Amino acid sequence: MASSDVAMGGAETETFAFQAEINQLLSLIINTFYSNKEIFLRELISNASDALDKIRFESLTDKSKLDAQPELFIRLVPDKPSKTLSIIDSGVGMTKSDLVNNLGTIARSGTKEFMEALQAGADVSMIGQFGVGFYSAYLVAEKVVVTTKHNDDEQYVWESQAGGSFTVSLDTVGERLGRGTKITLFLKDDQLEYLEERRLKDLVKKHSEFISYPIYLWTEKTTEKEMSDDDEEDGKADDDHEKKEGEVEEVHEDDDDDKSKERKKKKKVKEVSHEWVQINKQKPIWLRKPEEISREEYASFYKSLTNDWEDHLAVKHFSVEGQLEFKAILFVPRRAPFDLFDTRKKLNNIKLYVRRVFIMDNCDELIPEWLGFVKGVVDSDDLPLNISRETLQQNKILKVIRKNLVKKCIEMFFEIAESSKDDYNKFYEAFSKNIKLGVHEDSQNRGKLADLLRFHSTKSGDEMTSLKDYVTRMKQGQKDIYYITGESKKAVENSPFLEKLKKKGYEVLFMVDAIDEYAVGQLKEYDGKKLVSATKEGLKLEEETEEEKKQREERKKAFEELCKVIKDILGDRVEKVVVSDRIVDSPCCLVTGEYGWTANMERIMKAQALRDSSISAYMASKKTMEINPDNGIMEELRKRAEADRNDKSVKDLVMLLFETALLTSGFSLDDPNTFAARIHRMLKLGLNIDDHAAGDEDADDMPPLDDEDAAEESKMEEVD
Ligand code: ADP
Ligand code: MG
Repeated sequence: MASSDVAMGGAETETFAFQAEINQLLSLIINTFYSNKEIFLRELISNASDALDKIRFESLTDKSKLDAQPELFIRLVPDKPSKTLSIIDSGVGMTKSDLVNNLGTIARSGTKEFMEALQAGADVSMIGQFGVGFYSAYLVAEKVVVTTKHNDDEQYVWESQAGGSFTVSLDTVGERLGRGTKITLFLKDDQLEYLEERRLKDLVKKHSEFISYPIYLWTEKTTEKEMSDDDEEDGKADDDHEKKEGEVEEVHEDDDDDKSKERKKKKKVKEVSHEWVQINKQKPIWLRKPEEISREEYASFYKSLTNDWEDHLAVKHFSVEGQLEFKAILFVPRRAPFDLFDTRKKLNNIKLYVRRVFIMDNCDELIPEWLGFVKGVVDSDDLPLNISRETLQQNKILKVIRKNLVKKCIEMFFEIAESSKDDYNKFYEAFSKNIKLGVHEDSQNRGKLADLLRFHSTKSGDEMTSLKDYVTRMKQGQKDIYYITGESKKAVENSPFLEKLKKKGYEVLFMVDAIDEYAVGQLKEYDGKKLVSATKEGLKLEEETEEEKKQREERKKAFEELCKVIKDILGDRVEKVVVSDRIVDSPCCLVTGEYGWTANMERIMKAQALRDSSISAYMASKKTMEINPDNGIMEELRKRAEADRNDKSVKDLVMLLFETALLTSGFSLDDPNTFAARIHRMLKLGLNIDDHAAGDEDADDMPPLDDEDAAEESKMEEVD
C-alpha cells in the first residue's frame, strides 16, 4: 500500500492510499456544495481538546509525560501571506502509525453512515458525530499538512491534497513541537475569511466557547510608538516587531503641557506587533448557578460537548452536597445516535472531572448502559486526581455518584413528560428502548420507570397510553392489566386472543417492540395489578353468573371428546387441547405456557443468529390448543368425530386448523408447502374438482397424514 521515495531533506517519504470509503468521503466533502463550512474549526479544536485530555490524563499518573511541553494549550495562527491557518495543540500527539491509521487507512464505522446521511440530505455539520470530523478540514483547505510529535516517537509530517493518497515522512527540518500536533490548512481561494481575526474569534465563541483549555489567537496589533532617530536603529534587531516608518501623526495628550509639547516634536511610528490573545472564557459552565445560565448557553455547551448540530431536548444541572460533593450537567439529545446499541462502541457520553481536571470520558462505572444516551459532565470534589481505571471500578464514591445520576436522569425524563407532549413523544420515539432496558435491568427503579412507558392499545387510537391512564380506564371488576406481544400493531390488533377481552370491554396493550417481551417479563405488575399476557395459558377473566358458569361447564363436557381426538391427531405438536374462554369468533388458537416463551419471543429468538439451539429447544413454546365451542367448524368437527373417530376428513381439518392457528397466533410455519398443498386440496374440494379425473398431480404429492409424521421424524433424526 505504501510506496516510498527520498525527499530533499534526506528523509524518506512514504505514500499511502486512502482507504476506499474515506476516499469517497473526501470527494463528497470537496465536490459537494455545503454552505456550513465553518464547522471545520470546531472539529479541529475538538480534536485538539481530546488530545489534550489524553495527555493530561496520562500525566496524572506520570508527571514526566509533560516534560517535553509542560503547558497545555490550543493556538490558532492565521497567516495571510501564505494563506494558511494553523491549529496547534500541545496534546498527546500521534506516533507514525497513529498518523497512518487514524488519518487515512482505517475507516471508522461512521464513515459510510455519514455519507449515507449526507446523501439523504443531512447537514455536513453532523460530521463530528460520525467520528470523521478531521476530514472536514477539506471543506476549506485544498491541502492539509499535519505535523505531530508523540512522546513515544519522532516528529512526523502527514500531507495530502486528497485525490486518493497522502504522504507521511519523518520531520527533520520543521519547527520542533516538543509534543502535540499542528494542523496547517492551505485555504482555498474563496475561503480566506478564515484568516480574519474577527471571524476566528466569533467562531470560537460560537462553537468552542466551553473548551476547557485556553485557546490563543495569534493576533496582529498596530501600536504607535514615538521614537527618536536612535530608537529606530535599535528596533531593527527585534524580530517580533515590524515597523512602518515615517507616518508622523498628531497626538492628543491631556497631561502635562510641557511634556506634550516636547512629544509633538517627536516622530510617531506605526508598529505592528503580534501577541497571543486568549479567546475563550474557559470557566466551566457547571460551576455557575443554574438560574444564571440561559437556554442558549446550555445549548452551546451541549453542542461543544457532543458535536451535536441540534440543541438538546432536556437538561438537568445540579449539585450534590453533604458527605459527598459533585456537580453535574446532564443532557438528553433530540435523537438517538446512529450507533446507539452498537456494542463495539464504548460509552463515552459522560465526561468525568475531578476538581475541574478532566479525567476520562469512557468511565463505564459512572452510568448504567441503559442510560448510555445521556450526555453530560460530572465534576467530583472527592475522587482522587490520580485515580486509575482499575481503582475506579471498586470506588465507593463513584457508586454513589452513579446512583445519583440515575435518579436525576429519571427526574429529567419525568420533567420532559410533564412539560410537553411533543417533546415526550420525541423522547420516547428515540429512547423508549433504553427505558425498557432500564425496566429490565434496574430492579430498584423499575417501578418508577414503568410510569414512563407508553403503548398503543385496543383503546388508545393513534396515541399511546401510559399504564397509569390504562388503570383509570379499567372496567369494574377488572383485576389485571392485559397485554399482547407481537411483531407489529397490525399483527396483533385483530388477533383471536383479543376477542373475548374486547367483547368484555377490557383494554389490551400492544407490546410490539422486541424488547417489550423482556421488559414485561421483569415488570410483572403495575400499581398492584398483574400484567397478564393474552396469549398465555391461565388467562382467567372474572367469574360469570352461576347460569353462565353452568352453560360453560356443559359445553366443556360436550367438547371433551373432541379435545381428545384433536390431541391424538396433533400428537407432540401441542401439549394439550382444551375448551377456550378467550376466543369468541375464531375456531381455535394456540396459547403458550405462563412461564415459557410466547410466540413472539420464539420469533425473536429464531431471528437471533447466534442463539444457542439447545436453550431454544428447552424454552420453545409449549403450545396449548384452545378450541371455541361456539364456532360452527368445531361443532361440525365434533359431529364427525362422534360418528367416526378415524374419519379422514377430521384429521385433515384438524391439521389445517392447527396450521392456521399457528399463523393467527403469531408463530411461523415450519413447512409452508405442506400447508399450501392442504389448502389447495381444500380448494379443489370446494370447487368440485376431481383430482384423478383432472389428471392433477398435486393430490398425489400430498402425503397422507401418517406419512407426514414419519417424514418429519426422519427429518429430525437427520438434524441430530
Ligand atoms: P474523532 O475525533 O471522532 O475520533 P476525527 O476524524 O476528528 O474523529 O479524528 C480522527 C482521529 O485522529 C482521532 O481519534 C485522533 O486519534 C486523531 N487526531 C485527530 N486530530 C488530532 C490531534 N490534534 N491530536 C492527536 N490526535 C488527533
Ligand atoms: Mg473529532
